[in-house]
Amino acid sequence: MRLSQMLLVTLREDPAEAEIPSHKLLLRAGYMRRIASGVYAYLPLLWRVLQKIARIVREEMDATGAQECLLPQLQPAELWQESGRWDTYTKAEGIMFALHDRQGRDLGLGPTHEEVITAIARDMIRSYRQLPLHLYQMQTKFRDEIRPRFGLMRGREFIMKDGYSFHGDEASLKQTYLEMHRAYSNIFRRCGLDFRAVEADSGAIGGSGSQEFMVLADAGEDEILYTEDGQYAANVEKAVSVPPDALPSPFTTYELRPTPGTDTIEKLCQFLQCSPTQVVKNLLYQVVYDTGMTVLVLVSLRGDQEVNGVKLQNQLTRLAAAYGGNTVLSLTVPDAEAQAKWASQPLPLGYLAPDLADTYIQSVPHLVPQFLRLVDRTVVDLQNFVTGSNQPDYHMVGANWGQQVSMPQRVVDVRKARPGDRAFHDPSQCLQTARGIEVGHIFQLGTKYSQALGATYTNEQGEEIPLVMGCYGLGVSRLAQSAVEQSYDKDGIIWPVAIAPYQAIVTIPNLKDPDQIQAAEQLYTALNQAGIETLLDDRDERPGVKFKDADLLGIPFRIVPGRSLKQGKVEVGQRATHRVEEIPLDQVVMTLQQLIAVATE
Ligand code: ATP
Ligand code: MG
Repeated sequence: MRLSQMLLVTLREDPAEAEIPSHKLLLRAGYMRRIASGVYAYLPLLWRVLQKIARIVREEMDATGAQECLLPQLQPAELWQESGRWDTYTKAEGIMFALHDRQGRDLGLGPTHEEVITAIARDMIRSYRQLPLHLYQMQTKFRDEIRPRFGLMRGREFIMKDGYSFHGDEASLKQTYLEMHRAYSNIFRRCGLDFRAVEADSGAIGGSGSQEFMVLADAGEDEILYTEDGQYAANVEKAVSVPPDALPSPFTTYELRPTPGTDTIEKLCQFLQCSPTQVVKNLLYQVVYDTGMTVLVLVSLRGDQEVNGVKLQNQLTRLAAAYGGNTVLSLTVPDAEAQAKWASQPLPLGYLAPDLADTYIQSVPHLVPQFLRLVDRTVVDLQNFVTGSNQPDYHMVGANWGQQVSMPQRVVDVRKARPGDRAFHDPSQCLQTARGIEVGHIFQLGTKYSQALGATYTNEQGEEIPLVMGCYGLGVSRLAQSAVEQSYDKDGIIWPVAIAPYQAIVTIPNLKDPDQIQAAEQLYTALNQAGIETLLDDRDERPGVKFKDADLLGIPFRIVPGRSLKQGKVEVGQRATHRVEEIPLDQVVMTLQQLIAVATE
């Protein structure tokens, strides 16, 4: 491709809309244009990058025996009503774009395809002989994200590869899941990314597990906790760890102590001269289920620890059935306005005890008149602890479970693991922290969707049972930008060779020099003929402008027929290292072939 014929508009200044380096660079280098919030046009250079990623994804997926297909983006509401996700996706989370057709039927634009694929499996899979089966597709997904940002990182329209596998049993699912782990690792390695697979939250579905593939980068929205020995890595949403040991309590006998003005753990510990590890703190939440029922939740947790909102939400979803529901619509800390709607008297906030009386809750329709009490594991073994007394300005000290306060029944893990905590598998290992961009998520779904939609098969014993499912997502457009986020310098993008839009660029410094033009044209033709995707910068621009643009675009290898042309040589420069060598004209193709082979092996 000749730059003189290309739509190439580069910007010297950072666009105001972009916050992180990869977003700025892709805009500045003319790879994409923003059309609306979270909606981007992929211009020709970016499209080539996306196609290269797609090719690698296809090769690795096909090698596992998965088959490519293309599912509709326009999806009928009925399917989503069958799975029970229509209301959550269009109303509660509101992530799905919903619309009506001219007949007044409801449709959604596909944010994901579990429903569609399960309906196909329901119609077409009858027997164990058809299993296992794995279908995948690559296409544009639509999600009305609350906060679209960082360009392709969180778009409202983006390209995803999603795959769905069907199995007769868990063992078969596990095998495919492992193959996907391998395939994804190959994909990200081949794309030149520095990544890590981490244990991930599977939501309340549970399943037997899920893993996310994280590209390591400071701009990542996710926090990863991992150990140096490589044995443990998890998204903080999911991470577990051994909390620091609690210090022995200085209070040996029970007492109700005046503790004026100590409505925070910090003030309390300063006042009592004790460690937060000796305190049982009690936090109030308000959850609304899909049935419209509101439940007030009291969580008891050690004073030095924090609640992990994802773990708490999962616990509450698991308890939904007890309140006749399926899912959590909202989980909040009730503010004064919310409290006014249900509290029968002012709450002793800052001084709550685990046994705060249910009489604090008024009898109101759609409100459960008892607290749901959850105890985090961190407080179960505490002795002689400090906790609220349900009276403002007083705390209990030297309290014990079963004596001054009875222990609520539900013991759960809702604590947030932290960097520095000890690891379960080896307490000599401490958790370290890193930031990551989630580029892939593999998931053992189990029978959630097959049961909901009635997708069954007949096993060898002649019984009709639900299909066991897995699903595997990979953000193709997010991956492209992540590669930039991991690889750039002050001059611009440094594409990993395997996914660069072009591998080489021949720059003609001086268009008035016929020798330069001749050498450049010759190289341009020879390189392309040898299968090396090459650009020719034949624009009538100053050399400085051309070199700057080549750096900004991030093309891995640059060839310049310059001063040494008289000696039959040209400059071959590497974008990543800025190393330049003079190579005889007739060796340029071979040299580049070698460089590319080394970079993509
Ligand atoms: P996130 O937690 O980042 O919102 P998700 O868990 O909703 O992602 P999945 O449903 O697992 O994402 O989708 C599979 C993959 O699609 C993700 O791993 C990610 O790479 C990509 N992806 C998801 N949402 C977006 C988005 N809004 N823009 C670009 N890529 C996305
Ligand atoms: Mg995910």
